[in-house]
Amino acid sequence: MTEDIREQWRDLVRRNCLRYDGPADGSCWVPELERAGRQQIHDIQSEKLSLAYRYLWQCSSFYRKKFEEAGLGPESIRGLEDLSRIPPTHREEWLEDQRQNPPWGTFSPLRHEDWLQRGWMFFSTSGTTAAFPRVFRHTTFDRDIWTYLGARGLYSMGIRRGDISINCFSYGTSVAFWGMHYSLSHMGVPVISGGGASTERRAMLIENYKPTVLMCTPSYSLYLGRAMQEAGMSPRDSSIRLVVASGEPGAGVPATKRRVEELWGAEMHDHFGCTEVAMPPLGYTCEFQVRRQDGPVETHIMEDVYIAEALHPDTFEPVPEGTPGILVVSNLYSEAQPILRYVMGDWITITTAPCGCGKTHKRAVGGLRGRHDKLIKIRGLMFFPAVIEDAIRCLPEVGDEFRVVIDRVDDMDQVVATVEPSGPWIDRDAKELRARVARALKGSLGIRVDVDVVSAGSLARAEFKADRLSDRRPKLAVNPSQ
Ligand SMILES: [Zn+2]
Repeated sequence: MTEDIREQWRDLVRRNCLRYDGPADGSCWVPELERAGRQQIHDIQSEKLSLAYRYLWQCSSFYRKKFEEAGLGPESIRGLEDLSRIPPTHREEWLEDQRQNPPWGTFSPLRHEDWLQRGWMFFSTSGTTAAFPRVFRHTTFDRDIWTYLGARGLYSMGIRRGDISINCFSYGTSVAFWGMHYSLSHMGVPVISGGGASTERRAMLIENYKPTVLMCTPSYSLYLGRAMQEAGMSPRDSSIRLVVASGEPGAGVPATKRRVEELWGAEMHDHFGCTEVAMPPLGYTCEFQVRRQDGPVETHIMEDVYIAEALHPDTFEPVPEGTPGILVVSNLYSEAQPILRYVMGDWITITTAPCGCGKTHKRAVGGLRGRHDKLIKIRGLMFFPAVIEDAIRCLPEVGDEFRVVIDRVDDMDQVVATVEPSGPWIDRDAKELRARVARALKGSLGIRVDVDVVSAGSLARAEFKADRLSDRRPKLAVNPSQ
């Protein structure tokens, strides 16, 4: 029976990978799925959810126990209507599972002997949220599905044969690079691997070999572009026409997107996922959204292979469409991690309103807004670090780098922002610049912020992922419903 369910699952996933080998037309890889009616999407999700549940029930001791504790039986989940009966999984549970059952844990339905026969890659989290890195195994079956899904996402951004890509993500044990690499190969788009190269070498690769697509974090796209300018090169006049940003909010932060697009003379796309449950692309932009001038980018969720829910952070009940909630994701395609209702923890606002590109899959308004545990409360007001970034980078006279320190002085929250001018330093400009930044932050946050101006280039450049905000107050529990 166990063999049956494994094979049944792989068969169902394969059957739903329509147009595996290539796109239907110039605008959409698989219109049968990406432009499906909402009822059809519902039916696809229901069928896969029910089988994924039975697969986990039979093949993962971690999930069997979790389901039984929730009062569920082997046939309890028949479709999407039963989704809310499945208890959410938090990252701490996997951590504990791997600690108790090293090195792999028992959550994955993949058997070790399968990995030895059909193994593809070992992946690992960086260990930034836990000293103990969580590790994951994937098979060549998973690789082939990632390849196809990634290609669909990149095609939606406008990447075509004739493009050349330079991928600056590391060749390490994180998932970001690998999915993109295989997808680009599948599309017939050559890859220049910038993964192990220095910034100087990447600039030279762009100048000499004319890639048209740059893949990196938003922070690094600014870092690399400025480094090229300092070396006398022009990113704006370079061959790059698309920047595919991943790893941190950026394409969904309007001022950062504008900055990157002006710096490179290119369109900036958003591409997100997570190691545990949503190997990229969970979210990917379309050409219509990226060219909009009337609001934040809305990033499509690939709904034939994921169920994305926005839930209240305390009750885990669904919030109404258009209301911010915590992102909880179910994976409907993986052999190794068909995980249901994993709490990614990012804030997301979902819309199903029609998109100008014709795709019917729901969208994340402004992409992922930041993780719940990064939400900041100052003087009774809640906001995301990205709001500060947007307010500061709206001002062209301010450089890309900034720092914000929140502290408590005499029982009062005190916020100090340190910025640099974007142009040559003139002492008398500092006062005016300070006032403008303070006004912008007051306008966005609704609180007074003290501003320091330091000379251009004196703040350390964030090269890969940036953490520009430091909260030095004693830790308080943060609840956005308050
Ligand atoms: Zn669209």
